Amino acid sequence: TKQIVLKSRPVGVPTLKNFETKTVELSAIANGEVRLVAHTVSVDPYMRGRMSDAKSYVAPYSVGEAIAGGVVARVVESKSDSLKVGDYVMGMLPWQEEMVVPAAGLQVVDGNIAPLSYYLGVLGMPGLTAYFGLLDIGKPKAGETVVVSGAAGAVGMVVGQIAKIQGCRVVGIAGDDAKVNYLLNEMHFDAVINYKTTTNLDAALAEACPTGVDVYFDNVGGEISDSVVAQINKGARIIICGQISLYNETSVPMGPRIQPTILKRSALMQGFIVSNYAERFPEGFKALASWVTAGKLKYAQTTLKGFDKLPEAFIGLFEGKNTGKLLVEM
Ligand code: NDP
Repeated sequence: TKQIVLKSRPVGVPTLKNFETKTVELSAIANGEVRLVAHTVSVDPYMRGRMSDAKSYVAPYSVGEAIAGGVVARVVESKSDSLKVGDYVMGMLPWQEEMVVPAAGLQVVDGNIAPLSYYLGVLGMPGLTAYFGLLDIGKPKAGETVVVSGAAGAVGMVVGQIAKIQGCRVVGIAGDDAKVNYLLNEMHFDAVINYKTTTNLDAALAEACPTGVDVYFDNVGGEISDSVVAQINKGARIIICGQISLYNETSVPMGPRIQPTILKRSALMQGFIVSNYAERFPEGFKALASWVTAGKLKYAQTTLKGFDKLPEAFIGLFEGKNTGKLLVEM
């Protein structure tokens, strides 16, 4: 079966040369194991961190070994009491067309509740990230202004819509006019700024947030966040979810010293990793699924077709190629 491995660690922006496709033999299936055929594979920004050998919250990938991440797969052979042939499961699995893995650690997913791919997006890790980050740390109140960067992405579009459900004024920041229009027209954001075409982000933000910023959900970091943080209100909450603008940097860029702003405005700034909330995932899933089924939470996906597209899809995250969740369907 085909497998995609990390051939070399990227320096700066990842390229196709950092990946290699190999053919491997599947091991025989043992008791407690299942054989799976990949159905939909997720590419996520955090994987960039695992391609480097710097210490982080998840261990780095080894050079020469398969990349792994969120995968929805179909059970085609089972030596486990918990899974039967035909079940669809989700798990942290290798980039491999077919695989033999332990059944433990796989989660059965139900295609009747929502499309299977949603378990990698709005009903999966990105959706839970939006839910817990915004509600648990951001604690948005009706009437407050919530700004979200990376607004048209897998996490960002869920953040904005949950904030709308909470009765907030929602301002998004994204890098493409089609994304801006999508968020305004389909997801009912109150204002969206294209950070790539605006000539003055500070002024655009001030106009979009006439009463200041109460909650900032930060997916990107860098200069965009410098601009938002400068406009926070007293008692603002800043949620550090991601810093994608910095993931490919080879040195740490210097920004403004924001501590005086945090101090003077009695603001809270907190980072988090979604797995901190693992015990509460059922609560988050239930809320997200109920909004999706009620039509209150819409979701967009950008899907490439074919196993071989995985490296290209992954690199696309850093070029803004996706609206909503970026996926590769087999
Ligand atoms: P997205 O679907 O948002 O995809 C990435 C998007 O980031 C691109 O489409 C692009 O959109 C934007 N982007 C890329 N480069 C830059 C840049 N230099 N400056 C500004 N924007 C850029 O990914 P996710 O929704 O999966 O993840 C969003 C963020 O959340 C990431 O930083 C990720 O690491 C983080 N995350 C954190 C988790 C946690 O547990 N803390 C869990 C999951 C995700 P555009 O066209 O707008 O530029």
